[in-house]
Amino acid sequence: MSLVLIHSERFVEHQTPPGHPERPERAEVFDAVAGIWRKRGGDVVAPRAATGEQLARVHDEAYLRRIEDVSGRAVALDPDTYTSPESVEIALLAAGAAVEAVERAMNGPALRALALVRPPGHHAERNRAMGFCLYNNVAVAAAHARALGAGRVAIVDYDVHHGNGTQHMFEEDPSVLYISTHQYPYYPGTGAAEEVGRGEGAGTTINLPLEAGAFDEDYRLVFAEVVGPVLRQFKPNLLLISAGFDAHERDPLGGMRLTTPAFGAMTGELRVIADECCDGRLAAVTEGGYDLHALAASLEAVTRSLQPPATPSWPSSDSSHAERGRASVSLVKRALAPYWRL
Ligand SMILES: [Zn+2]
Repeated sequence: MSLVLIHSERFVEHQTPPGHPERPERAEVFDAVAGIWRKRGGDVVAPRAATGEQLARVHDEAYLRRIEDVSGRAVALDPDTYTSPESVEIALLAAGAAVEAVERAMNGPALRALALVRPPGHHAERNRAMGFCLYNNVAVAAAHARALGAGRVAIVDYDVHHGNGTQHMFEEDPSVLYISTHQYPYYPGTGAAEEVGRGEGAGTTINLPLEAGAFDEDYRLVFAEVVGPVLRQFKPNLLLISAGFDAHERDPLGGMRLTTPAFGAMTGELRVIADECCDGRLAAVTEGGYDLHALAASLEAVTRSLQPPATPSWPSSDSSHAERGRASVSLVKRALAPYWRL
């Protein structure tokens, strides 16, 4: 069993140039996670930039040229997405880190990797930057796993936002299962329970929309009733996690109430499923997370959960705090009835 953290000191430079007030703190969080990882016997390696070929599996060539053109410049790509002169270079390293995580996980068995990256990726569309994202890191990772021979790849996205880009890239592809829990309605507006995939991919997009204010218990329920059963039926050859931490109760953007141990529990459940389905092959790629203390604590909980024999344990909470989860599960079970035994 081995753990690999794909991490670059340069990731903190994305939108936090020298002199930015958050930069030292952000660097500290990343360094602390690397330290914990090493203490647990894991390797920490630096990423290489993603190649044009790896990116072109999920992005349009014209879009890739457009992003290349803004390299070295500060520009606004969309109302939420702007670059610093270093952004493109760092985004290439982030997508490359996701690729590296897949290569490490695929060369297992029982090899777990975490790509600790910025910028996030799951809002980036085939032909458009969006929601702080330039390249869709986890989608590049999934496509890379397919190219390496994985027949079925599952992506579980527990970021508070719906991963519109990831969904759209694979919604017609039955070999890539995309499962998202997210605040709904909320940015980016997609992710209704009825969005289940299209054409040959019908049934391999799974959206678990949760009303704002969801508790640990709501997430525990949707994992138990939908996420776990679907993954066990799909039997992926590799499990990817879009690990966003903005559903944390302290996050300034998200409106959810997840506690730090819940991130460990979700990740631990996914690790156990990867052990059952695919010899432990699991790669997590970070997405959002905007409270630095919550981010640091949640990453530590995730690191612990990735390592056996830790078993997933949900924080004890009040079962009456599952109304949002119950509402989501009942919608999703109806939408997925033609495709899965739930
Ligand atoms: Zn997010």
